[in-house]
Amino acid sequence: MLDKQLLKQMKQDTPILEDIMGLKPVVWFNQNKREKPHLELTIHDVYEAEKLWERFIPFFIEVFPEIKDGVIESPLVDIEHFKAFENQKQSRNIHGSLFLKSDHELPVAGSIKARGGFFEVLKHAEQLAFEHQLIQEGDDYAKFAEPQMKQFFNDFTIGVGSTGNLGLSIGIMSAKLGFNVNVYMSADAKAWKKELLRKNGAHVHEFSGDFSEAISEGRKQTLDQPNGYFVDDEDSKDLFLGYSTVALRLKQQLDEKHIKVDKEHPLFVYLPCGVGGSPGGVTFGLKEIFGPHVHCFFVEPTTSPAVLTGLVTGKMEEISVQDIGISNQTEADGLAVGRPSKFATKISDQLMSGLYTIEDDHLFKLLVTLKDQENISVEPSATAGLIGPWVISETNYISDLHVDEENITHIAWSTGGSLVPEKERKAFYELGQKLLKSQ
Ligand SMILES: *Cc1c(COP(=O)(O)O)cnc(C)c1O
Repeated sequence: MLDKQLLKQMKQDTPILEDIMGLKPVVWFNQNKREKPHLELTIHDVYEAEKLWERFIPFFIEVFPEIKDGVIESPLVDIEHFKAFENQKQSRNIHGSLFLKSDHELPVAGSIKARGGFFEVLKHAEQLAFEHQLIQEGDDYAKFAEPQMKQFFNDFTIGVGSTGNLGLSIGIMSAKLGFNVNVYMSADAKAWKKELLRKNGAHVHEFSGDFSEAISEGRKQTLDQPNGYFVDDEDSKDLFLGYSTVALRLKQQLDEKHIKVDKEHPLFVYLPCGVGGSPGGVTFGLKEIFGPHVHCFFVEPTTSPAVLTGLVTGKMEEISVQDIGISNQTEADGLAVGRPSKFATKISDQLMSGLYTIEDDHLFKLLVTLKDQENISVEPSATAGLIGPWVISETNYISDLHVDEENITHIAWSTGGSLVPEKERKAFYELGQKLLKSQ
């Protein structure tokens, strides 16, 4: 923790820190947002990333029959019953439509990490295969499923530090390709995630510390090996690009539903946030496509506001929530992050509209409502965006835009949950029910 005098000065400079440190749910709007940002990536990087996904379609069809047509994508579903229920509960009506981008259903990894995590592993594999002339341009990538390819990759190591879901995506994909893969798990990682990884052939290393410690240790141990490659959630361009390609698919899904996005019909997107890589990548892709007509909001637990702390203090990845006396203890393990991503945060700083925080109890209640109203089961982290339309509508943000509220399309991003075992699923639900009853 920083010294008292410094903290006092910081609170004077940035008054919202008082509430953040008091663990109160806050809403913050980004004054640094620019319509003409200076970014090191462009839409062409997104198209290039999409081409990599396309090259690997034959591989996916070969080894993961559960991936429909070899394309890793999730449905966009209208959750009008959830909306009606919350409208009544909040005594405040959201007039636009509300959709759930159902990344909890993404095949194989069961979370949004299928986008970033798979992408980075595939890109690394492709590069190695090119360097060693095992593939050439134009080849059928079903080749990556062949035994001699697997044997080749077995001489290479991939490492990753994770609170759970990133480890699952990197571990499963790396092991499938034949890599020797080590997953360095933080203390808050769930036991079933560790088990599932071991079952899939990954080596799991457990740490008593938090996510940042798992990352530092994993980084060190991986890079000490001659053929080691570390997937660095605290600073990864490839994870970011992997997430960004969803923007192209979402555009298509909106077109199919005849949903317009323009000045009169803005798109509001609510993204659960850990290090800020997945919400950052998604936001970057969407901003490249929809420009000023898309408004992206990130959501963090009140006890893990890593990106918020980095942005409001301007210290970005150089400050952690622990530095300002916040615990980083949350049941939302996908968001249990104390320090933001370096790569993602400097981009999000120019693109995101704002960020709000939410209490753990609220996540569990939303989990119950989503299940009861829509029969959709997700993990606690994935519910954080659901309340976004109500949070933002309580502020002046929408009236400042001068648009008809009815024309807004709200999308809450459901980031994970389909792999959660039945027993844990039931426990989440029962806890949420208890909390709802004691209101
Ligand atoms: C990882 C994760 C997030 C957040 O992604 P970051 O890149 O860490 O910001 C949100 N929800 C779930 C379920 C996740 O696993």
